[in-house]
Amino acid sequence: MSTHKKISNSSCKLKNILIIGSGGRENSLAWAIQKNNSIKKIYLIPGNAGSERINKCERILIDLNNKDLLIEKLHFFKINLIVIGPEIPLANGLADFLRKNEFKVFGPGKDGAKLEYSKSWAKEFMQDAKIPTAKFWKVSSIDEAKKIIYSSANQLVVKVDGLASGKGVFIPDSKDECLEATESIFKGKFGNSGEVIVLEEKIQGPEVSVFALCDGEKYILLPTAQDHKRLNEKDKGPNTGGMGAYSPAPLLTKDYLQRIVQEIIDPTINELKKKNINYRGVIYFGLMITKSGPKVIEYNCRFGDPECQTIMPLMDQNFVYLLEKCAMGKLTGEEKIHSSKKVSGCVIATSKGYPSEYKTGFPIKIGNIDSKDCQIFDSGTRLSKTGEVLTDGGRVLSIVCQESDFDKVFEKAYRNLQEIYFEGIYFRNDIGHQVRKKFLMEK
Ligand code: AMP
Repeated sequence: MSTHKKISNSSCKLKNILIIGSGGRENSLAWAIQKNNSIKKIYLIPGNAGSERINKCERILIDLNNKDLLIEKLHFFKINLIVIGPEIPLANGLADFLRKNEFKVFGPGKDGAKLEYSKSWAKEFMQDAKIPTAKFWKVSSIDEAKKIIYSSANQLVVKVDGLASGKGVFIPDSKDECLEATESIFKGKFGNSGEVIVLEEKIQGPEVSVFALCDGEKYILLPTAQDHKRLNEKDKGPNTGGMGAYSPAPLLTKDYLQRIVQEIIDPTINELKKKNINYRGVIYFGLMITKSGPKVIEYNCRFGDPECQTIMPLMDQNFVYLLEKCAMGKLTGEEKIHSSKKVSGCVIATSKGYPSEYKTGFPIKIGNIDSKDCQIFDSGTRLSKTGEVLTDGGRVLSIVCQESDFDKVFEKAYRNLQEIYFEGIYFRNDIGHQVRKKFLMEK
C-alpha cells in the first residue's frame, strides 16, 4: 500500500505513455491511446514490427531487467503513465518497482498479480469470498492426485499452479489421461510452475470474458467479449491463446451481467480490499455460464488477448484517462465508457503448426485493407535487417473490424483476410459462429 502514497494526486496532462509488452494486445492499447489529442508519444518496450505503423508510436529496445537503464529512459522520455501488458513482469513485481520510483502505473503489484500467477491461491481467494467456481483440490504429490482422481465421481481438469503461457490446463477424457497429465507436470514439464497442481471439477457452459478497470477501491466494466480458445472450427482441437473474439457478448444481457456483478465482481473487489491488496489495473474474469449460474474459470491480471484487440477499437479518445485514473486511485466508479455503438470482431492469423511446433521468419504481404473500421494489429512479427515484416510467433496478426452487426463484421474481417499472405497462414473461418446468422441457422 505504501508504494502508492508517493504518487502525485494531481492529474498532469498526459503526454507521453509507455506500454510494456510485445503482442497484439499492446499494439491495440497503443492504437486506442493515440486517439487522444493530448498524447504526444507512445513508447513500447519492446513492441513488435507493427508498433511503429501506429500513429505516435516508437519502440525502445532495452532489457527490462536492467532497472537503472529503465528508470533513466523513463525520465529521459518524460513518461507520464506506464501501462504493463503481460503477466510475467506483473508477477515479477515490475509495477511495485516503478511505483516506488514515483511513476504512475496501470497494472497490479505482485500481490494482485497472484490472482493469475497462482491458480491455487486464486481458488482459495474465491473460496474465502464465496465466489462461485468449480470445486477444487490443491495437490503437491502424485499419490495425493491419484487418490482424488480415482475417487472422484466427476471428470476433472488438471491445472499447473503457476504461469505456463496459456499451456498449463489439461482437459482429459478419462481418469488415466488425467493421471498421465498430472505425472507429466510433476516430472517437471513446467519447471517450478508445476510443483503444485490444481485438480478441478469439469464444468460446462459457454465462456465469456468480463473486464474490470480497478483503482484499488472502485471499478468500471469494459464491454464484454467472447473468445474462441480452440484451434479448429466448431471449437474443436487443442487450446490456444485465442483464435478470435467478438464484443460485446450478446449472451450477457443487462440482467445477467448484473448477476455477475453481484455474485462475482463485487465480492472479488471486496476480497482484494479485505486482503489489503491495492489493485490498480485490469482484472479479467474468465467465466463459464453453467446451468446453475456464472462460475469463475480463471482470473487474469491483464487484458485478454485477443479480447483486448477486439474491444479497443470500440473505445473513444477518453480511454487513456480511465487508465490514468486507475493508476492514481481516482476512479469515481461512475465514469461512462464511451464505447462505439458498433460491434467488433477479431480473427487471428497463426503460423502453421501453432500451438505446437511452428516455423517463423516468413515475409508477410498485406494488400488493400479497408481504411475505415478495420485494423491489423501485429501479434507476433519482427523486422528483417532490410525492413521486411516477418512472422515471429504462433499468433501472427489480429484482423479486427467494426460494423453495425456481427454478420457484417465477420464478412469484412474475412474479406480483408484475403489481402493478407504469409507462408502457412492459418485461421478459423467460423469465428463468431454463435452470433452470425449463417451459423445460427445451421444449428
Ligand atoms: P484457464 O487457463 O484456466 O482459463 O483454462 C483454459 C480453458 O480450459 C478454459 O477457457 C476452459 O475452456 C477450460 N477449463 C478450465 N477450467 C475448466 C473447468 N473447471 N471445467 C471445464 N473447462 C475448463
